[in-house]
Amino acid sequence: MPSHLLSVDSLSRDAVDHLIRIAERMEPIAQRRKVTRVLEGAVLGNLFFEASTRTRISFNAAFCRLGGSVCDTTGFTFSSMAKGESLYDTSRVMGGYVDAIVMRHPEQGSVAEFAEATQVPVINGGDGPGEHPSQALLDVYTITKEFARLGKPLAGAHLLLTGDLKYGRTVHSLVKLLSLYEPLRITLVSPPGLEMPQHLIDLVASRGHRIETRLNLAESFDDVDVIYATRIQRERFTAEMTESFTELTADFVVDRGFLDRRCSPTTIVMHPLPRDSRPGANDLSTDLNGDPRLAIFRQTDNGIPMRMAIFAHLLQVEGLIEKDLRDVGWFVPPSFGVDDATFQGSGSA
Ligand code: ASP
Repeated sequence: MPSHLLSVDSLSRDAVDHLIRIAERMEPIAQRRKVTRVLEGAVLGNLFFEASTRTRISFNAAFCRLGGSVCDTTGFTFSSMAKGESLYDTSRVMGGYVDAIVMRHPEQGSVAEFAEATQVPVINGGDGPGEHPSQALLDVYTITKEFARLGKPLAGAHLLLTGDLKYGRTVHSLVKLLSLYEPLRITLVSPPGLEMPQHLIDLVASRGHRIETRLNLAESFDDVDVIYATRIQRERFTAEMTESFTELTADFVVDRGFLDRRCSPTTIVMHPLPRDSRPGANDLSTDLNGDPRLAIFRQTDNGIPMRMAIFAHLLQVEGLIEKDLRDVGWFVPPSFGVDDATFQGSGSA
């Protein structure tokens, strides 16, 4: 793996498997059973120029759980970019202050441009509609864990991706990463105008996968293993799109009724989050909360060990993790959520 993580294009299947193995070793720390200090003294710069809860906090927590410290800035208003500073200058300056950088920016390609001016590892935390490589890695980590829990092979699995497949950077990174796996079946369901870019469909097909499109969810999907729902990325719409597109219609809703009627009892539901829970948004329904098929909070929990793995690998401390482990000294609840499925965190059904 190179010294930055800017796109999943830089990852081979071996590199993904390697990161998954490191993430597995991070689980005792992520689940707050063990403490390590391998990054003691190291400082992370977390630069977020777009809204974020999960990515910013989980990169921050992952670095802290490795023993490092974090400095961060949020939004353009309080950064020197508001005074016209270039990505080059900001990057060169930050490289002198911190040991690793996570950056999110509204423009596609901006994080790669930023990374050109520093030798310090840079991780793309989302560049406009471009990519979100750490999300795709934690998604693939989640899929492999869920399939292991259910005793299903990943080869030949059927994944259904729905929602905003045009502007959703998580699905862009995810399909590229999935294309490195044994042949899969991928069904894409999006409203008109929000389809997956054709070059990504072609890439997946050229790697031997079966990729199909559907207009809505109004049919049986009883052989689907994974539903990956996404939010409409309204903030990326052109003026024309804003005028022509109102809301997701009800035939895109993934809810308990859809799962019970049209899917199998072992279909799992993922979403990069946030889900838009406002009335009429028709995003992933909250009526699935507490249902073991809803994997979204296991997915967010998996973000910590995977992001720890990314840091450990980029900062070359992956060989030191076990040398330094201690038991935690504080109270940790048996599960993190009030309605988590019993297997939450344990990795077994
Ligand atoms: N959190 C994800 C992202 O930053 C998904 C989303 O915002 O809908 O891309």
